[in-house]
Amino acid sequence: MKRLSIGLRLTLWYLAIFLLAELIFGAGMWFILRQNLYDIADQALQGQAADLERFLQARQNISTAQLKAEISEDYKIESSEDYLQISDAAGNLIYRSRFLEEHPLPPLPVDQRGKPRYENRKLAQRRFRFISKKMIAGDHVYIVQIGHPMHEEMETLDDFLRYLLWFAPLLLLGASAVGYWLSRRALAPVDALARTARTISGHNLSSRLEKLHTGDELQRLSDTLNEMLGRIESAFLRITEFTADASHELRTPISLIHTEAELALRRSRNQEEYREALLHILLEADRTAKLVEELLALARADSGSEVLNIHPLDLLKLLKESTSKWAQVASLRNLKFEEHLDVEHVPVMGDENALRRVIDILLDNAFKYTPAPGTVTLSAEQNQGNILVSVEDTGMGIAPEDQIRIFERFYRVDKARSRELGGAGLGLAIAQWIVKRHKGTITVKSELGSGSVFRVEIPSAVIPAEHASLSSNNPGSGENYSPD
Ligand code: ADP
Repeated sequence: MKRLSIGLRLTLWYLAIFLLAELIFGAGMWFILRQNLYDIADQALQGQAADLERFLQARQNISTAQLKAEISEDYKIESSEDYLQISDAAGNLIYRSRFLEEHPLPPLPVDQRGKPRYENRKLAQRRFRFISKKMIAGDHVYIVQIGHPMHEEMETLDDFLRYLLWFAPLLLLGASAVGYWLSRRALAPVDALARTARTISGHNLSSRLEKLHTGDELQRLSDTLNEMLGRIESAFLRITEFTADASHELRTPISLIHTEAELALRRSRNQEEYREALLHILLEADRTAKLVEELLALARADSGSEVLNIHPLDLLKLLKESTSKWAQVASLRNLKFEEHLDVEHVPVMGDENALRRVIDILLDNAFKYTPAPGTVTLSAEQNQGNILVSVEDTGMGIAPEDQIRIFERFYRVDKARSRELGGAGLGLAIAQWIVKRHKGTITVKSELGSGSVFRVEIPSAVIPAEHASLSSNNPGSGENYSPD
């Protein structure tokens, strides 16, 4: 079933509550009015009963027949009493006024302790309130009933009820109209927000919902939605830029491969020339493969599907492995490679392939951007519960304005030079992602022309006894860890 709109539901709730309030108010007022009218009648009856009691007490020594005569003559004239009935304790009638003779009063309960009791009775189609009271005058006990006509009071009460029943639906109708108008007014900004939101798509993500200045929940809602749109827009832009940059980067090596092959085939060449062309093609194919691999790593990182296998390991072993590999590169490039690894263990919780990749990225950069004869230094130290690995070079350095951007994807200080050296500007972005996943930080300090220092700081681990050997060749010993 289709749910009713919020506006309609609010109106219905408003109506239901209004109706309930009206019912409670109406019934309450009716009861209070009735009680007040009875109270007035009861007071009048009490006064009459007190008069009669005094009258009876003044005549306590006369016979019943005399009393009967005196009431008929004196009392009746004094009090113009029309609805009086007096009997003795045994129930024998002593006096009864004419109206009650004609319309006998059904027996009324009497309180034996002498307290007055009040009852409503209908006689000859007229409503009455009667007081019943036991009165003692000397040796005599009398049961007295005095009536008070109530038709005027009851008419007032009925009129009140009639007005109530007339006005209540009118009031309800008016209230429902006002309620509906109020809810429409309150929810109008929601409709406006929904209309704008419906027009926003991937092509106009920069549009924003109308800014409300109501200072209430709706303003908070529109502000929150706008913030969310902002986040979606920047994520969307990042993806679009990434796709554009990636296609651009892939196009260059592919067109180079294409040109190289085309040139080689244009005319017949000797074996040496073919060999050189194929070597160029191989080099470009390697670069393309590396680029595709880097793109994949970043795409997996973005989608959250890159699972790191975090387990206790000794980073020192990884660093030592790297030094032997990079020492050869250093000698080939005529660079000095120093290592300061004067620590016994460098225990961390980490993924060894990922951490190896970080070390390789930093060393690769250091060797790429340091002209011979220069020095590259790899060092590791413990620093207040953290492991600090730094890669220092005496190379070309990085200008301050570039230092904040080199961790961005595809950012290269000198595009042409970096490409020539085989870089697409993705290495540091990948390194930063890996370090972050190890709850660490990566920073750079550099001076143009004098070299750079890249520092990676990750929390040091307390290695449990069973991992005391700290085998870096034992990835299975770690638990699977999915980056958040
Ligand atoms: P690339 O693969 O192009 O080296 P990176 O993300 O690793 O990409 O580095 C980004 C840019 O930062 C490089 O293009 C280079 O301009 C600069 N850079 C990185 N490391 C160094 C360094 N040790 N010395 C000088 N410049 C560096």
